[in-house]
Amino acid sequence: MTGVRLTEAGGLVSELVATINANRAHLSEIDGAIGDGDHGVNMSKGFTSAGAALGASPPPLRQALSTLSDALFEGIGGSMGPLYGSLFSAMADTLDGAETLDGPLCGRMLRAGFDAVQELGSAKPGDKTMLDALSPAVDAFDAAQNEGKSFADCLDAMAAAAERGRDATRDMVARVGRASRLGERSRGVVDAGASSCCLILQAIATGVKKRLEAPEGAAVGGQQTRKAPAHASK
Ligand code: ADP
Ligand code: MG
Repeated sequence: MTGVRLTEAGGLVSELVATINANRAHLSEIDGAIGDGDHGVNMSKGFTSAGAALGASPPPLRQALSTLSDALFEGIGGSMGPLYGSLFSAMADTLDGAETLDGPLCGRMLRAGFDAVQELGSAKPGDKTMLDALSPAVDAFDAAQNEGKSFADCLDAMAAAAERGRDATRDMVARVGRASRLGERSRGVVDAGASSCCLILQAIATGVKKRLEAPEGAAVGGQQTRKAPAHASK
């Protein structure tokens, strides 16, 4: 079984914080085209407060995802606080009792996140929201798993599908949220939430793959088993 130890993977959430902060201006700019231009600012506010709560040595992944969820529920105005808060809370719950994030658990974690967002926001794929990046990404991960692909390849398939999903929102008309008031005029630009969701999924893929390749500590199984130090076991 190849996977990542949850105790070593909390830093993944700090990497999500860094990704959102690096894209703050970009995300607000795209929201400005058909929304109110606050998406990057909103996201960055919540993610920054999560980053501060996590500190320099983040807790295990389950707790780190809960910290992020709490910060988003408390810190973000607009639609995104509850929606992303629910996404990360559902993802955290799936990790309860586990020690290792492997392909099947990651698939369940992503699916639970998608279900939580859909349940709370009642949007459907095609409505020009974050779900248009999330839904194809989760499906692509599952499809790659069912084809017997490696965990890393499943993550690559997920990230590529998220990007295609984000790009496909360009030709959609918004049916929910602020942009839906524009009707046909919402066509022609990508959705801000789909863009942030794509960035988050790409950062998850990159961060997990990096830990799968880690020479020691983070990874379990595959070719990367922990090596005993030379002086051990006399
Ligand atoms: P606000 O719309 O309150 O200004 P943001 O700008 O932070 O909040 O977020 C806008 C994004 O929220 C949209 O681009 C869209 O992807 C997402 N969104 C809005 N409503 C929903 C919903 N019901 N389900 C999923 N995503 C939604
Ligand atoms: Mg907005």
